[in-house]
Amino acid sequence: MCVVDLGSGSAGAADAANARNTAGAESALPDVSDAPPPVVRGEPVEVAEGVFVIPDGRVPLVPNIGIVVGERAALVIDTGLGPCNGAYVLEQARRLAGDRPLYLTITHFHPEHGFGAQAFKGAATIVYNRAQRDELRRKGAGYLAMFAGLSPQLAAGLDGVTLVDPDVVYDGYAEIDLGGHTAVLRGVGPAHTTSDQTVLVDGQVLFTGDLVETRMFPIAPYFPPHDTDVDGAAWIDVLDRLSAIEAEIVVPGHGEVGDGALIREVRGYLAYVRDEVERLRAAGVSVDDAVVVIDRDARARWSTWDNPEWIGFAVRAWYAAAG
Ligand SMILES: [Zn+2]
Repeated sequence: MCVVDLGSGSAGAADAANARNTAGAESALPDVSDAPPPVVRGEPVEVAEGVFVIPDGRVPLVPNIGIVVGERAALVIDTGLGPCNGAYVLEQARRLAGDRPLYLTITHFHPEHGFGAQAFKGAATIVYNRAQRDELRRKGAGYLAMFAGLSPQLAAGLDGVTLVDPDVVYDGYAEIDLGGHTAVLRGVGPAHTTSDQTVLVDGQVLFTGDLVETRMFPIAPYFPPHDTDVDGAAWIDVLDRLSAIEAEIVVPGHGEVGDGALIREVRGYLAYVRDEVERLRAAGVSVDDAVVVIDRDARARWSTWDNPEWIGFAVRAWYAAAG
């Protein structure tokens, strides 16, 4: 039953305001109450031979989703948020892959990337790295409650979510031979999360998850006291390693598919926040004042980027890491 009643009119608005107030008081999360519902709607687009992306359409809390179709099997990368999105992605994968065996992996445990995995349980072999599985077990329920509190649309999208364990767990990296296409899954965290994973297909197409976004401020999930694991310094190191791969096509977690320039742009922003925090801390500026300064300057410098609300989270994470 994947029919989502989104509500409308004054009752819906009141619910949204209540959810916003609750979220603001408890976790200071970004306000997404006015965002469109996080529904995966796109059709798969072939970005390289046998490699498809269901584009996010720049809808908040919808990720880019990958489907890699080999001669013998197919791999799905990320599910969208909730069981209905998961079912939609599974349907698209079946349409492209026919009756080939399916694998599912996720770039990281965040709800919009992996909380549709239950639709694949029994229909695909689910593969995570060990740290991903452990982070999902540790934080999954908390994130489910946090996201459901953000807006009625999110609560509806997450209705009926069951967090499922992977069927296969690996350490380091895993290579999946799909027949004519090879996917290398690699644990690269901590960075955006403790257990970020990249997927490199045929040495050519790199799925980065939220390590990279296109024309939007990267998400710094610094939510004390619930989650303070984002690691900006390690994130920069990871981006340097990803740049060195020189992949021809980069599929970010959110935003348009591009190339290595996307990685360099995110690195440039993170290094800017790092340097500014260092400068302002040395001058005795408080974290709250630094948020004001860096937020203002970064919005001006990256004026075409969406989601500027994440600037302050990044600044607070860097300040906390500096001790
Ligand atoms: Zn994320």
